[in-house]
Amino acid sequence: MHNILLIGPQGSGKGTQAKLVKDLFNIPHISTGDLFREAIASKTELGKVAEQYINDGNLVPDDITFGIIKKRLEKTDCEAGYVLDGFPRTLSQAHALDDITALTHVLEIFISDDVSVDRISKRRLCTKCSLIYGLNRIPKTSNICDKCKGKLVQRDDDKPFAIKKRLETYHDLTEPLLEYYKPRDIVHKIDGVGSVDDVFKRVKKVFE
Ligand code: AMP
Repeated sequence: MHNILLIGPQGSGKGTQAKLVKDLFNIPHISTGDLFREAIASKTELGKVAEQYINDGNLVPDDITFGIIKKRLEKTDCEAGYVLDGFPRTLSQAHALDDITALTHVLEIFISDDVSVDRISKRRLCTKCSLIYGLNRIPKTSNICDKCKGKLVQRDDDKPFAIKKRLETYHDLTEPLLEYYKPRDIVHKIDGVGSVDDVFKRVKKVFE
């Protein structure tokens, strides 16, 4: 069983690693950030509520967030496991998650705040196809998507003010989760500095 949680600050590359882990075990990658962005793009009620919190660099309230994650984990494709990315982010979310599932692995992808801010300030998102550009993917023409020619923009929550706030939130609210899971002996610390391949090699070692 692979009920995996990836924890790491903004820019740690946990989304990228989560996609690789998804392919490695053929399990779904569940990102609350992606679920919210999809809801915002399709202009649902949930999307409208979430958007304001997200753009200000705040967490979306627990009841809304837990509602979408519970619904997602109930789908049959999660029966053999899943890789969670971005949830839980607070102790109360971790308690709520414990009521519906049991994690088997928690992987902390570690980078310093300086690396985080540097990586995030370079991140751009395609407004048309949502492809993410950054250090590991640089567009051939600046600010134009290689794939669909859409315009590349900086996410509002990737702007300096919001990044600082998101990092503070990470240290204050999310990092304590590592202590919370420690007694279960399921936490693995992974150095997030290096190429995507380097980091993925470290990730795979956990499962050997
Ligand atoms: P991410 O793409 O994971 O950085 O998520 C983008 C934004 O969505 C975050 O900055 C939060 O505003 C919101 N968000 C994502 N996951 C959660 C969560 N577990 N709890 C509350 N808000 C969340």
